[in-house]
Amino acid sequence: MIEIRSVRKTFGPLEVLKGISLDVNKGELLCLIGASGSGKSTLLQCINGLEPIQGGEIIVDGVSVHDPKTNINTLRRKLGIVFQQYNAFPHLTALENVALAPRVVAKRSRSDARALAQKHLDHVGLGAKAGSLPSKLSGGQQQRLAIARALAMEPTYMLFDEVTSALDPELVGEVLETMRLLKAEGMTMVVVTHDISFARESADRVAFLHQGEVCEIGTAAEVIDRPQQPQTQKFLRRER
Ligand code: ATP
Ligand code: MG
Repeated sequence: MIEIRSVRKTFGPLEVLKGISLDVNKGELLCLIGASGSGKSTLLQCINGLEPIQGGEIIVDGVSVHDPKTNINTLRRKLGIVFQQYNAFPHLTALENVALAPRVVAKRSRSDARALAQKHLDHVGLGAKAGSLPSKLSGGQQQRLAIARALAMEPTYMLFDEVTSALDPELVGEVLETMRLLKAEGMTMVVVTHDISFARESADRVAFLHQGEVCEIGTAAEVIDRPQQPQTQKFLRRER
C-alpha cells in the first residue's frame, strides 16, 4: 500500500503540492487526472523518491520514502515507472534493454537476466522483437518495451506518467491494452492520464488534482460521470 499523508512540495517560492493525502490500495488502479501544472507528475516523482518533499510523508509498504534512513534504491525497485517519452538505450536490442537492470541492479546472472527479459517481452507482446533495436520499433512498441523494462525489476507498484500522450492515435490502444492486462493480473498501478475514457473504463478510483490539491476522489463512475466539485465539472467539460 502507498500512503500519501499531507504532502507538501515546493519549487522555490512555488507551492506545487499543497497537502496531498491519498492511499493507493493493493491491486487497485488509481488514475490521476487534472489540468496541466496541477502537480500530477510531481506527485509521481515524490512517490518514488526522485523529488524531496517539504512536508508530510509518503509510506510505501510501511517504509517512509523520504526518511534519510530509508534505502531509497531498495525501495525504488518496488516502484516501476514509465514516462511519456521513450527512454530505451538506442544501441541495445529490446532484449538487452530489458535485461540490463536485472543484470546490473538486481545482480542476476547473464542467462537469468536474458530469460527474465524474454519473459517480460512476451508478456507485453514483443517476444518476436527481442533482437530489434528500439529505433526499429513503433512508438507503441517502444512504450511496451519501456513497460517490460520496468516489469523486469519485478516491482510491486507501477507508476505511469502519460504513457500514451506522445503516441499517434492508432498506437494508443495497444499500450492501454497492456496496462489493462497488468491490472487484470493484480498489479497495483498509479496512472497519470489525460485519457478520460481509459480512466472511466479501467480505473478503480480516480483522483482529480487541482492546483496541487486533491479536489475530488472516488470511483471512476463518481468522479467522471457524477463529479461533485465545480472544478472537476469544468475540467471534464474541457477534456471531452
Ligand atoms: P502536465 O499535465 O502538463 O504534465 P502536471 O500536472 O504533471 O502537468 P507538474 O509537472 O507536476 O504538473 O508541475 C506542477 C508545477 O510544478 C508546474 O507549475 C510546473 O511548472 C512546476 N514544476 C515542475 N517541475 C519543476 C521543477 N523541476 N522546477 C520548478 N518548477 C517545476
Ligand atoms: Mg505531467
